[in-house]
Amino acid sequence: MTFDDIGRNGGDTAPAPAFARPEHRRRSLGHSDLVGADGEVGYLHSVETAGTVDGPGVRFVVFLTGCALRCQYCHNPDCLHLKDGNLVRADDVVAEIGRYAKFLKRARGGVTVTGGEPLVQPAFTTRILEGAKRLGLHTALDTSGHLGALADDRLLAATDLVLLDIKSADPDIYRETTGRELAPTLAFADRLDRLGKPVWARFVLVPGLTDDPANVRGVAAICAAHGTVERVDVLPFHQMGAEKWEKLGLTYRLADTPEPTEVETERARQVFRDAGIAVVF
Ligand code: SF4
Repeated sequence: MTFDDIGRNGGDTAPAPAFARPEHRRRSLGHSDLVGADGEVGYLHSVETAGTVDGPGVRFVVFLTGCALRCQYCHNPDCLHLKDGNLVRADDVVAEIGRYAKFLKRARGGVTVTGGEPLVQPAFTTRILEGAKRLGLHTALDTSGHLGALADDRLLAATDLVLLDIKSADPDIYRETTGRELAPTLAFADRLDRLGKPVWARFVLVPGLTDDPANVRGVAAICAAHGTVERVDVLPFHQMGAEKWEKLGLTYRLADTPEPTEVETERARQVFRDAGIAVVF
């Protein structure tokens, strides 16, 4: 999930649909139903039926749980563990999407699978993406790319667009920001480039953390070096997720971090434009 899934969508994700509620889970899935390699079942946090910032047109957005990263600015710390979600069947998720398929097609939209990190559950994600394709819908995968090696050819064949978070170009800043290494994301970007898979990059501008001019230029250079990056969204850090950290009793390290000014955000966006990358947000 990107930093701004809650921020820009105004936090209006729908609660877990009926098929994802615990009572239904107990009724329909027994102890023998485990999240396995076949992806028949997986952990779902919630869905949003009319997202407008996670791919082209109006999107049915599927939020899965589980993430290997621990971004300092994560707006969904309640999505980081698989068990933060409810165990559901992929077929039921696809059936739910089907109820909106006509509308989504008319709105030139589609389905976006996000999280958390969808690649924590690659087989489950594949089934949802393939189900959406069977419905004739455009599909997008929203990922940090850290687990890109788990996205096999089948998953990528069912993915029309990758929303790729490039959280830093500097390995030290990336580690400081996410707790993980940068290299897997770069390797995934390279692979997407070789496959000719369209990418929309996302970069969160955090004062004092990711906003070093050399780092911004580095992210722009990564985007420019990958011909399949069609655009970048430069997302200014904001404090809208702070409350969740507090509620969960977690230490929120950015409590005193200011939001970037419009001038600072625009300056960063210009760096990308200067590198020849289209900037939409
Ligand atoms: S990659 Fe994971 S930790 Fe980082 S913002 Fe997304 S969900 Fe949160």
